[in-house]
Amino acid sequence: MLSEVIKAVFGSVIMFEAMLSDRQRALRDEVRAFVSWVPRQLILDMDAERVQYPREFVTEAGRRRLLGLRFPAEYGGKGLGWEDEILAIEEVGVLGTALACAYVMPSIVGEALNVFGTSQQKERWLTPIIAGRKIAAEALTEPRGGSDFFGTTTQARREGDHYILRGQKRFIVGAAECDFFLVYARTDPNSPPHKSISAFIVERGPGVDAEYLYGLLGTRGGGTGRLVLRDVPVPAENLIGSENGAAEIFYRMMIPERMTSAAGAIGMGRAGLQIATRYSDQRKAFGEKIRRFEAVSFKIADSITMLDAARGLVYAAARCVDAGDNQNRSRRLVSEAKKFATETAWQVINNSMQIMGGIGYTNIYPIERLLRDARLIMIWTGTNEVMDLIIQHEYYNEVLTSSQESRDVETDAPEAKRAEEKVYD
Ligand SMILES: Cc1cc2nc3c(=O)[nH]c(=O)nc-3n(C[C@H](O)[C@H](O)[C@H](O)COP(=O)(O)OP(=O)(O)OC[C@H]3O[C@@H](n4cnc5c(N)ncnc54)[C@H](O)[C@@H]3O)c2cc1C
Repeated sequence: MLSEVIKAVFGSVIMFEAMLSDRQRALRDEVRAFVSWVPRQLILDMDAERVQYPREFVTEAGRRRLLGLRFPAEYGGKGLGWEDEILAIEEVGVLGTALACAYVMPSIVGEALNVFGTSQQKERWLTPIIAGRKIAAEALTEPRGGSDFFGTTTQARREGDHYILRGQKRFIVGAAECDFFLVYARTDPNSPPHKSISAFIVERGPGVDAEYLYGLLGTRGGGTGRLVLRDVPVPAENLIGSENGAAEIFYRMMIPERMTSAAGAIGMGRAGLQIATRYSDQRKAFGEKIRRFEAVSFKIADSITMLDAARGLVYAAARCVDAGDNQNRSRRLVSEAKKFATETAWQVINNSMQIMGGIGYTNIYPIERLLRDARLIMIWTGTNEVMDLIIQHEYYNEVLTSSQESRDVETDAPEAKRAEEKVYD
């Protein structure tokens, strides 16, 4: 009976229900219907690496018009905002990182095409990825490093109406199956890093090889591989934005890259916590339901508090980006959201496993898969250490360069005027 009540209540508390508009509730329900459609066998086959890429999942999402929600209707999107998209991604996040990643890839690669592409480029590549007819992948990371993006060594040399691309990219989701890659390559070896990199669409073809597929702790079935480009001729019309102008594209793409990681993390944490909450209402020890032990129920309390706080931060970041707030502040908030939501998901799923005891560590429940998945999200789309670099950088700038708008509390001390005591050096 109590678990029935919990089930009913969960329907309303897992979302910030009162904050949603009717349109957002309808979208959320549409996405939930899609998530319920996903065959259980697909999840199992991906985790067992019997599936290399969930193409039919993407096709179905496209058929339901649930991909690339932010993009204009003329290219198949719905012209919605980040507030709407994170709602959808949280729902898909309960499926784990591999499916969530396949779901959000059109949003990530699509951002570059939508903001910097020509109308021909949008028709050729944005429309089919939003429709789920084509699969895109994003190729930033190289074997020599992912954090140091501007150290990119992949080269693109102009020859007539083509560029010749040569180099390697590592850990590329969809390397095995995608139809095209968004690749960053250095087009000017002599200029500073921020002025020497360009972005290209590289279609699968001769010289474009997924050379090696990685064995992964989790997030399996996404075809994550090393991409090798061997003197690939890429038509000049595949250049996105201006030559040597990819720094701007990179910074722009980091918004969907990190917002999608953050929103998906909340769904994953939510999934783990629901299982543990239901379990703790049924499992008994010492003749008592384990939820009666504070050690258990307070873990639930901590977990849901952290999840709600993370969701609040992700929503705040979404609102700032949608409102076109100051770019630096948005960058800080997006980075905070990515860091906090991914660390929260990890802690919440870990708490959930602890609440389940030994059975949580087995494959009787999907907590162990969620835990394996969750480990990655603190590493990809910029490690959480890189998020810290950005957060502190932007916050120092904000505090040190902004004029004092609010009360200067530093003077609210009895001896505040003793300048000779304020020694800094
Ligand atoms: C399963 C999986 C899927 C992925 N999917 C994609 C994809 O589809 N496309 C893509 O382009 N990439 C993808 N990545 C790559 C991912 O984004 C990178 O792994 C990540 O950005 C870190 O880069 P790295 O692995 O080269 O680590 P490194 O950059 O070598 O970093 C190693 C360590 O040093 C730390 N570090 C580095 N620089 C600093 C610094 N300045 N200050 C403090 N600490 C620092 C890092 O935080 C990290 O702890 C994927 C990775 C994995 C594992």
